[in-house]
Amino acid sequence: MKVREFEARSVFSQHGLPVPDGVLATSVGSVVEAAETFACEVVIKAQVLAGGRGKAGGVKLARTPGEAGEAAQEILQLTIAGEPVSSVLVAPAVDIVRELYLGIVVDRVSQKLLLMASGKGGVDIEEVAASDPDAIHRVEMAPDEGLPAWKARALAFRLGLEGGQIAQFVGIASGLTNAFVDVDASLAEVNPLVIDGEGDLWAIDAKLTIDENALYRQPEMRSVRQEADEDPAERRAREAGVSYIKLDGSIGCMVNGAGLAMATMDVIKNHGGEPANFLDVGGGAGVERIANAFDIILSDENVKAVLINIFGGITRADDVATGVIEARRSLPRDVPIVVRVAGTREAEAKVLLEQEGLRAEVSMDRAAARVVEAVS
Ligand code: GDP
Ligand code: MN
Repeated sequence: MKVREFEARSVFSQHGLPVPDGVLATSVGSVVEAAETFACEVVIKAQVLAGGRGKAGGVKLARTPGEAGEAAQEILQLTIAGEPVSSVLVAPAVDIVRELYLGIVVDRVSQKLLLMASGKGGVDIEEVAASDPDAIHRVEMAPDEGLPAWKARALAFRLGLEGGQIAQFVGIASGLTNAFVDVDASLAEVNPLVIDGEGDLWAIDAKLTIDENALYRQPEMRSVRQEADEDPAERRAREAGVSYIKLDGSIGCMVNGAGLAMATMDVIKNHGGEPANFLDVGGGAGVERIANAFDIILSDENVKAVLINIFGGITRADDVATGVIEARRSLPRDVPIVVRVAGTREAEAKVLLEQEGLRAEVSMDRAAARVVEAVS
């Protein structure tokens, strides 16, 4: 899960990184107000998840509140990498003398954290890695040991830092490491880490990706996610305990079991159809969960038919069938529904469905052929 710059800044600054003050604003008026309060040159930055905002026109400097207003007006109209800009960060501008790069990722091969620093900051680090790999200095760290100060100092020297900058850099690199571990990040990046006219270091950009598997123990990050512009259907699915991923096709799929969901999508494709989603209602799917699944699938306007593929295992097929029958009574809109049931209590399930006028297939292949026919 990526978080926006202002959230990442707050995490970094709580871990002692020198982050300039900043105000989040959603209107031109409040940007002007913030610029008046700071009473200095400010930078206005689009708060979207994508990087490369500078190149996309999403980062602008403004010397006066008037200029800040004009910049905000332009930035708030942008869409960057598909995301409309709905908020900007206003911060006092830093007078930049040098731009460095500092980042941490998980290195799966060595099972360590990899701290990377470069004197070539401000630009795309992937480009530096490709064109001048030696310009990136790397330090491996055991996640439970953190960054030894001597390693951080050695890195500071290699970046050409001097005097008080050395101690500042050591604080920043270990702060970033602690932040990374504390929030269960998979990536933390300060690009650029800058040196200002006084020779001081500032983290003027902040990028943070949280490992989603750790969100259960990251309540603060979880609330960030709720505020993020998650797809509304995906959010509903998550709240209903259903795994749902929207795709671009026209055949809605409702399936119990992730492997079966994959197989169902394959079979639909084999018959020349396109699945509209991946949806796993999970085991023990009751009426409420199935009703939610129907609502989620049918909220996608591309869905022209639904294939329900039930495999009775520990969850009995007739119980799922009852859920489908109940949920179908209050569908938000009417589309052809094809059902396939197999496994535990398949005969009972078939009888129940057929009493309701739903012809049930036992063969997955036949069911897929029928649903593809229904949409073509
Ligand atoms: P990104 O393009 O999404 O990575 O956004 P950044 O926050 O890295 O900003 C892009 C570029 O804008 C930076 O590399 C800087 O050159 C410039 N920039 C950002 N903040 C400031 C600032 O406070 N002062 C100055 N002079 N330039 C800034
Ligand atoms: Mn940046």
